[in-house]
Amino acid sequence: MNTANIMTIIGFVTVATIFFTTIIIGIYLFMIDKRQKQHPILRNYPLLGRARYFLEQIGPELRQYLFDSDLEAKPLSRKDYKNIVKSAKYKRDVIGFGSQRDFEEAGFYVRNSLFPKLAEEMELNKDEKVTTNRYILLKNPLFTQRKEKLEEDTSINYLLNDKDVIVIGKKAKYPFKVKGQIGMSAMSYGSLGKQAITALSKGLGIAKGTWMNTGEGGLSKYHLKGDVDIIMQIGPGLFGVRDLEGNFNWDALLEKSKIPQIKAFEIKLGQGAKTRGGHIDAEKVNEEIARIRMVKPFHSIDSPNRFREYDDLPSLFQFINQIREYTGKPVGIKIVVGSHLEADDLAKNMKELDHGPDFITIDGGEGGTGASYQELSDSVGLPIKSALPLVDHALKKHDIRDQVTIIASGKLFTPDRVAIALAMGADLVNIARGFMITVGCIQTLQCHSNACPVGVATTDPNYRRRLLLMKKNIEQLTI
Ligand code: SF4
Repeated sequence: MNTANIMTIIGFVTVATIFFTTIIIGIYLFMIDKRQKQHPILRNYPLLGRARYFLEQIGPELRQYLFDSDLEAKPLSRKDYKNIVKSAKYKRDVIGFGSQRDFEEAGFYVRNSLFPKLAEEMELNKDEKVTTNRYILLKNPLFTQRKEKLEEDTSINYLLNDKDVIVIGKKAKYPFKVKGQIGMSAMSYGSLGKQAITALSKGLGIAKGTWMNTGEGGLSKYHLKGDVDIIMQIGPGLFGVRDLEGNFNWDALLEKSKIPQIKAFEIKLGQGAKTRGGHIDAEKVNEEIARIRMVKPFHSIDSPNRFREYDDLPSLFQFINQIREYTGKPVGIKIVVGSHLEADDLAKNMKELDHGPDFITIDGGEGGTGASYQELSDSVGLPIKSALPLVDHALKKHDIRDQVTIIASGKLFTPDRVAIALAMGADLVNIARGFMITVGCIQTLQCHSNACPVGVATTDPNYRRRLLLMKKNIEQLTI
């Protein structure tokens, strides 16, 4: 038998084997699908019904990359996402041809001026410079990786002058003076991995004049890696300021307050997306997270939806006073506003009792959260553009606006949105998801699963390792 015949027989046998194996596997799966009792669709359409699960799985990616228009995807449209990446990575934020906004739709617009200030007339400190790195896009081929080069870049920081600094907690022993108007919203270590928290801490430290909110997960050593001011958030779970039984631990609070980078404390209440409290599965509570949060390792944690330390405004104010007196540092609250009645009640009580928070962080109902229920995320709490004027108005009505700093958050990740929030009553603005995108988030919406594909929102070392901080504008990083 010659070689050609041998090759023909081998080819025939291979094709026949593949064919019959496929048929046998198909029949086997067909029988399994037909007999199983869990999925009616598979009983009715054995084998074929499996295509549905596959398409369902890849649907979000197909929509994200192929079918959604640049303006319609949520939570952030492709346009918004690209805008953040272009500003953060390439330091380029210009567009060509014109806006894609639908100008027929109602919305907010920034009032322009016929005689705007020249750059040199702006009353800002232009002496502070920030030196960081940016990518220059050299080539953007269709089928291969982009070619980019990293280069050093220095720009003006535009901080507030000393006479204009925003003072949070004028009555506190150690007021918090803020020179920049944008900071990082609450994002806990545990929700984000150590690479992400470290990158943000270092990046914000380089930016200067800004701040970082720890989120309710407590202060980790990664928050302290950069030289950035910190607002330590305390949630109803009291993570980082509790004993193992869950009681408030004043000694732990005092210890934290002695860390010079901690400039203020924020009590988280009136939660929108976490109205039912929080839950962390036991496997996520590793030794390190347990130590930071002051809980038992490898035990699941259920945090209540309200502090046990107070149950109305006078007792809340009492609690705030205690913390302020004990630490000497300003104390604020983070709220999601439900109606004008609550805003008015808060301001009225502050006036009558002559007590209250040094700052109020108002989170819009559209604000992000690492893990919550769909219904709560969708429906609880007013959006920021409704909530902000209510609180600002209530504080002005009761003549206490000058005693309180308002920090606004809720998708305020572009300069025009920041400007609108400042015009509507905010003194400062917090950003969370915008910062997540700057460190690599690609919006897969898997933050709750601990399987973030880019290693941002995960504590799993296998996923975390994918986030290389060398490439995120940090020259050398030790974690
Ligand atoms: S990439 Fe996905 S899982 Fe990771 S932070 Fe972004 S949205 Fe969350």
